[in-house]
Amino acid sequence: MNHAHDETGAGNGLLSNVNATAAAVTGTGTSAQWLARYSDSLMGVFGSPQRVLVRGAGALVWDADGKEYLDLLGGIAVNALGHAHPFVTSVISSQLATLGHVSNFFTSPTQIALAEKLLSLSQAPTGSKVFFANSGTEANEAAFKLARRHGKVHSPENGPSRSTILALEGAFHGRSMGALALTAKQAYREPFEPMPAGVRHIPFDDVEALRAAMDETVAALVIEPIQGEAGVRPLSLEYLRAARELTREAGALLILDEVQTGVGRTGEWFAGTAAGIVPDAMTLAKGLGGGFPIGAMITFGEGPSPLLSAGQHGTTFGGNPVATAAALATLHVLESANVLANVRAVSARFAEGLTGIAGVTQVRAHGLLIGFDVAEPIAAGIVTAALEAGFIINAPKPHTVRLAPPLNLTSQQAGSFLAALPALIETALAAQTLQGES
Ligand SMILES: *Cc1c(COP(=O)(O)O)cnc(C)c1O
Repeated sequence: MNHAHDETGAGNGLLSNVNATAAAVTGTGTSAQWLARYSDSLMGVFGSPQRVLVRGAGALVWDADGKEYLDLLGGIAVNALGHAHPFVTSVISSQLATLGHVSNFFTSPTQIALAEKLLSLSQAPTGSKVFFANSGTEANEAAFKLARRHGKVHSPENGPSRSTILALEGAFHGRSMGALALTAKQAYREPFEPMPAGVRHIPFDDVEALRAAMDETVAALVIEPIQGEAGVRPLSLEYLRAARELTREAGALLILDEVQTGVGRTGEWFAGTAAGIVPDAMTLAKGLGGGFPIGAMITFGEGPSPLLSAGQHGTTFGGNPVATAAALATLHVLESANVLANVRAVSARFAEGLTGIAGVTQVRAHGLLIGFDVAEPIAAGIVTAALEAGFIINAPKPHTVRLAPPLNLTSQQAGSFLAALPALIETALAAQTLQGES
């Protein structure tokens, strides 16, 4: 065989500029032009995008008209190190230029090193294992299947089958059918019923309700240590501990969905393990790849459960060299630049500053996953006013604003938002009044 062929693949003349940017293939346009093309070509599941973003650096992004924004949402808790972090970008580029994809018939050093790193950071005991996916919903699909396997293997011979999965009211676990079955929100579920069977939602943070629901038909309890989409609602430590004890006693798995809370977001590597909870499985995604898509499920210890075995689960892209390199690079920077200490410091700055602002009724700051409530249902109006003023934030509920900025946000950047917020609230209140009058 002749392996001495053209190594760049550029020799056919189709690729004349090896330093090409995406603009070479997209063309350019104003925001208005792009948005017209968007609505003609993209499925409307996300409504109308708020802006067309073309460039980012750290916590700043710019839209197609050149307007600058401080990104305090970080792609919904994804851009852990902001945009275009030089080290992460360099590792991703060099991995892609070396080996980009191999399929899971093969492995690669970055995949193995990342699995080892996650096991070490999560202090997972001997026997713990990692499965890589591409997103949060996929990580949770793996967990769903793990729960089903556990239930099948541990069902009594002549008794009822262990097929129930418990999840919480207010839960968000993703949009694919298994994860959607775990998600509580009726508006997301109803258009796609019937849901996969066997999932039951029980009241949030209610130990007695959990105790009552826990019987020999329960295969697993799936919980977010802090519900992100529900407006940054933490479970009490008492509940987390009871969840661990009651699932263990009942022979059910405890599965922590740390897709949003994991990988330093709360100022700890993982919210659940920082609280002293050792789950049977934990799912990760969002911040893990620093903006590059990757998800993971970690199973803890030999556990009471069989692992998914050869042929029982799979993915084409999951754990590919580029995604795992992106995650390794992100974790490396989070660790070596002591970013978690920054998360705690900037979180305290937000908590203190938000607490004093007129109209803010409650602040829930868990590292740089922050929810604050406002007296009137004007959260969406605050988001709109913020965009106009050059801040990207989010309103998961009518009364709640969420911040999930890059973990390397500076205290000054936090301060600039805190200084602007009173006027944003004023603007939103005025818009609400106008709406009421018209
Ligand atoms: C975002 C999220 C998911 C879904 O992740 P995707 O990558 O959007 O599929 C699942 N669980 C939690 C807790 C999340 O915040």
